[in-house]
Amino acid sequence: MRPARALIDLDALRANFRLARELGGGRKTLAAIKADAYGHGAIDCARALQGEADAFGVACIEEALELRQAGITTPIVLLEGFFDADELPLIVQHDLWFAVGTPWQVEAVAAFQTTATLRIWLKLDSGMHRLGLSPADFRAAHARLSALPQVGPMVLMSHMARADELDSPRTREQAELFAATIAGLAGETSLCNSPALLGWPDVRSDWVRPGLMLYGANPLPGHPELSARLRPVMTMQSTIFAVREIGVGEPVGYGARFVAERPTRVGVVALGYADGYPQFAPNGTPVVIDGQPGRLIGRVSMDMLTVDLTDLPQAGLGSRVTLWGDAPRLDVLAPLCGVSAYQLPCAVKRVPHALLGA
Ligand SMILES: *Cc1c(COP(=O)(O)O)cnc(C)c1O
Repeated sequence: MRPARALIDLDALRANFRLARELGGGRKTLAAIKADAYGHGAIDCARALQGEADAFGVACIEEALELRQAGITTPIVLLEGFFDADELPLIVQHDLWFAVGTPWQVEAVAAFQTTATLRIWLKLDSGMHRLGLSPADFRAAHARLSALPQVGPMVLMSHMARADELDSPRTREQAELFAATIAGLAGETSLCNSPALLGWPDVRSDWVRPGLMLYGANPLPGHPELSARLRPVMTMQSTIFAVREIGVGEPVGYGARFVAERPTRVGVVALGYADGYPQFAPNGTPVVIDGQPGRLIGRVSMDMLTVDLTDLPQAGLGSRVTLWGDAPRLDVLAPLCGVSAYQLPCAVKRVPHALLGA
């Protein structure tokens, strides 16, 4: 069997969740598990957090229905709402909560007749300019929706565009615009994503919405000291299944991106970019080989990659190689490869998951 594995440490997930809840002041916590829990397995993560999370956040009804079909009964919020009004009967049937963040969604809700109570997260555009109603539209929509018999108490939400930049005034400006816009309106509030929770202790709301930090990656690249508080959930690993020695001047792999400057022992690892490892990870990218620091050499192939074993004489056939996990951390590896810590686990595919702490 091919040895590539993504180990998913559910105890680490729970520990990170508890940290997020604590940072949020112990208030309500929505765990963002969209995109298959950022590649970690939405059903497994939901089961691990069921009973602790106050809600789960997903991107679309398809993701929500998978969770319901797996027996998850916790409230689920469609963070982008519905994409078509014909989803509304299903939303009611499966007892889903949903964001309303664009005028046509307001119209669709107003036109939808039901005896059920709709649970809306009304979204303000406080400066990100992607989704959310403008401040003027927001107050009008709140009044209109509140007056409808089918609409229950709403959560008032907004989303931060630059909470990972601690020297930018934008996060505070967004929080101030949010506070001014919702003044006097009924409803719980929800503002903080992971970087806001970790970086902006005075920006708080009734509901916090951590995503990336739950998976143990630090969303504030400029603040590595925060990493010690977050336990990596995913360990990407495989083993060496071929070894060769090459002489000075000999290349390795596609495009001869690595050329040996000394006699070099090359290990071939069963994991490549089709598994989600970044194709353009540079020569020297850190890996861990049987617990020892090692390095990638040569361009990553679709199903394989190559590592330097010259300084690791004990390592060879069958040696275990960790591509990311406790070391190297996702948030360290990603910038070396020109991608974000969000993108890497989301790209994982083909690799079987193995659950720890289930
Ligand atoms: C994905 C998402 C989050 C979580 O963001 P992180 O940066 O991963 O913590 C929070 N709120 C909304 C609306 C989202 O879509």
